[in-house]
Amino acid sequence: MSKKNNGTDLNRLSSNFKNNDPRRNLPSASILLEEPSIKEAISEFSHTFVMDAIHDALKWFRDNLKAGDSSPDISTVVDKVNFFLLQNQFQRLRSVVNATGVILHTNLGRAVLPERAVKTLSQLNHCCNLQIDLETGQRGKRHYMSEYLICKITGAESALIVNNNAAATFLILSALCKDKEVIISRGQLIEIGGSFRLPECINQSGAIMVEVGTTNKTHLRDYEQALTENTAIILRVNPSNYRIVGFTEDVPITDLVSLKKKQPLIIVDDQGCGTLINLEKYGLPKEPTVQESITAGADLVCFSGDKMIGGPQAGIIVGKKDLIQKIKKHPFTRMLRICKLTDMVLEQTLRLFLEPEKLIETNPTIRMLTIPAETLKRKAMNLKKRLDKEKLNLKIEVKECESTTGGGSYPATIIKSYGLILKSPKHNPDRLCYLLRQNEPPIIGRIKNDEVILDMRTLIKGDEEEIFKALIKIV
Ligand SMILES: *Cc1c(COP(=O)(O)O)cnc(C)c1O
Repeated sequence: MSKKNNGTDLNRLSSNFKNNDPRRNLPSASILLEEPSIKEAISEFSHTFVMDAIHDALKWFRDNLKAGDSSPDISTVVDKVNFFLLQNQFQRLRSVVNATGVILHTNLGRAVLPERAVKTLSQLNHCCNLQIDLETGQRGKRHYMSEYLICKITGAESALIVNNNAAATFLILSALCKDKEVIISRGQLIEIGGSFRLPECINQSGAIMVEVGTTNKTHLRDYEQALTENTAIILRVNPSNYRIVGFTEDVPITDLVSLKKKQPLIIVDDQGCGTLINLEKYGLPKEPTVQESITAGADLVCFSGDKMIGGPQAGIIVGKKDLIQKIKKHPFTRMLRICKLTDMVLEQTLRLFLEPEKLIETNPTIRMLTIPAETLKRKAMNLKKRLDKEKLNLKIEVKECESTTGGGSYPATIIKSYGLILKSPKHNPDRLCYLLRQNEPPIIGRIKNDEVILDMRTLIKGDEEEIFKALIKIV
């Protein structure tokens, strides 16, 4: 029926069906609230969530029923309420199985936190000594232990912890370079994602950006020629989420430091991924560590807490004491500070680095990075064997695949891994991935060459069992 000429038709219809229009016979919210299963839902999910679901369900029936349809009985309406309730609860923040093979997956919360770090959070139903000196009873230093630890580990004089590394860069520039020039290589003007673009960040901080060199090559003389009496900072940015390969050249910190002989300068290294240990012996490529940057003479180095450190979201600044003091006094420091949850988890994560030889057991990020491919192959084989016994309508293979670190660390580094390749005669790959995501807990895989891959490298204890149960349920 077209809208234009059906006015009279509709009027006639509605008067004909006035009494048996199912939309008029829907149960009211108050009647639904008397239903035992709805009462149960309220005690589990709260009155607010249930009322929202009731309104969604009633709206659904009003939108979808037509005059002349039979009225839904109350149990059908209750089912619909439960459907909307579950749909809503599905959005709640909770753990998922990361079978993507991306170790630091920003959409999945980056680093899986160390057991030991998470355990301390259970104390937070009490107060804590966040900012009290237990010796004197006076106001103490926030983040004292985390800052102490990061100095111990990196050999830096002083440290400051803020909300994330983007904030750290911004804070450094705001506090030390406002209305002054910061020199940066054109090869390092990065975008990190989530609309954090370095040029914009520099702009917002009040610093004046001076670009030097070209995308692929920047020389020491480029920096030298750009120096003016208004230059305050030379910023080096670690290409942690991309690589410029081929005919390239950039200037190492040690060389940049030589320019300090000419005039006062602050050399800042945005190291990004926060590599604290050398993982070459596990077959990973050499990445510059924070310690090396300090040793090379960087005045300030900043990096994330939730990349290679494997801790919570945080931005860590280490370096010269006088500079850190100056930054700490800037009003933005208060706005960008971390909370006690972060501080506790970070402190416990950093403690693990005091025993580097145990990190593979204690720190899930380091474990995922270094676990040998052969171990993963065995894992995949075992899981396949168990699934094969179930005679599922699903083709399962064990195949070599490629994990990545993700989250702006070890760019372009592919780590050999093994995964289960799933092919379902019933569901196409997108559908199969969808069904895995709908599982409880949701399982996140990836699709490559039209196949669903569940990568073994990023699984933690218990995840294989969840995959096993989910596949039996799904197919
Ligand atoms: C990841 C990264 C950032 C941003 O860090 P967040 O902690 O995510 O804010 C900044 N600079 C570099 C070089 C990075 O790798």
